[in-house]
Amino acid sequence: MNYTPSVLLWLRRTVAAEWQGPADLPRSLTIEWRLIACRWVGMLAVGPALLLMHLPIERLVGAYVILLFGAAYNVTVRWYLQRQPALFANGYLTTAADTLLNISMVLVGGGFDTPLSNVLFTGTISVAMRYGYGPAMAMTLIFTISDVLEKFVVHEPLDADVAFRSGFLVITTLLASYLRSLTIKAEVALHDRLVELQRLYADLAVAHQELLSLDEAKTSFLANVSHELRTPLTSIRAFSEILQNYPNDESTQQEFLQIITAESERLTRLVNDVLDVTKIESGEMEWRDESVDAATLLDRCARTFAPVVEQAGLQFEQQVPRDLPPIRGDYDRLQQVVHNLLNNAMKFTSQGWISLRAWTVADELHIVVADTGVGIAARDHERVFEKFQQVGDALTGKPKGTGLGLTICRDIVAHHGGRLMLDSQPSRGSTFTIVLPVDAHQLALAA
Ligand code: ADP
Repeated sequence: MNYTPSVLLWLRRTVAAEWQGPADLPRSLTIEWRLIACRWVGMLAVGPALLLMHLPIERLVGAYVILLFGAAYNVTVRWYLQRQPALFANGYLTTAADTLLNISMVLVGGGFDTPLSNVLFTGTISVAMRYGYGPAMAMTLIFTISDVLEKFVVHEPLDADVAFRSGFLVITTLLASYLRSLTIKAEVALHDRLVELQRLYADLAVAHQELLSLDEAKTSFLANVSHELRTPLTSIRAFSEILQNYPNDESTQQEFLQIITAESERLTRLVNDVLDVTKIESGEMEWRDESVDAATLLDRCARTFAPVVEQAGLQFEQQVPRDLPPIRGDYDRLQQVVHNLLNNAMKFTSQGWISLRAWTVADELHIVVADTGVGIAARDHERVFEKFQQVGDALTGKPKGTGLGLTICRDIVAHHGGRLMLDSQPSRGSTFTIVLPVDAHQLALAA
């Protein structure tokens, strides 16, 4: 059987796993981990090379002892990196140990003037790559001081070799550290971009979802509008056609003409309401921004409605103090809200009373339109403010209206920084409360 491919495969996997390191190792220690492999390669290279240096036997033995120390040290580093990575966080531990090992090897192997001093360059580059300027320059300094000290100890003058070695060690250290700082900067920038991209992606997903629901809302709005337009149009068309068959019957003509007029009015109301809603929601509505005397506005509404309400056999109650604080906004639009609420109250009340009241609470004006009409079930309290939502007694059929009135009211009140609330129970009447912020600036001026 041929085992070679599977052995090679195993070897490749083992080497790859070793190079990769433990999965939970902090990213900043990746190079520290990979340097274990580099040390093994370095020791494998130095081991046989020592034999080529023709060293006296005691030095050769000394060099191999240091190599053995290096091997033990490398195993120890591997062991602790897996268990206590924090020990290596600032880099000074392995920098010190590497420095010591390198100097020992150089000194035992014959001094700085031997080819062994090449090891120093690898040492400083590897420290610069892992920990940057600080530890790498410290190592370079110790190497240089040792180099100079050696000359002193052996009573030799400082020569060009020392100068070149030290100079190039410094340059190498600085260049390697600079490369490291560039890499870190690029990594940070990349990380920031990634975070930014993730944020943008999330925003985009939200915007996409919003667009989808807007599109859905638009489709259902269009479907509703078409449906609501078709009903009066069909009646107008049908009654006009039938009318042609009664050229001489005046009373039938009158009756049909009244129906046609009522349906045309409904059509006009619907078109106006649809226009209002689209304008408000698309931001195309032109709003006036002026100080509005709430008492005058409510008084006018009351004067318009009181006779009609009383004519319908209902009582009209009005409690609007003259000294209401001013509010800010569009007089006509605010009046439209109160009119709409009073209109609804009339539509849905057959006996009892309808009231219009107002008062202030802190810096807010409360305008309340209440009735003793059919009321609205709690489950429909939110629904009545939605477009085209008409709730009511299934037996009495669909109430007359467009189903857009309360949507428009809520939008107008919201534009004025206020809120429109409903309190109601079936058969117990309804209370709509408009809460609007008082025009504090105007109030201060008046004071
Ligand atoms: P509409 O033009 O159909 O009245 P609105 O948006 O003004 O549309 O009202 C939506 C629905 O809310 C009405 O069809 C009705 O079912 C209910 N509603 C509104 N006001 C009252 C009220 N005062 N009493 C009972 N129900 C009401």
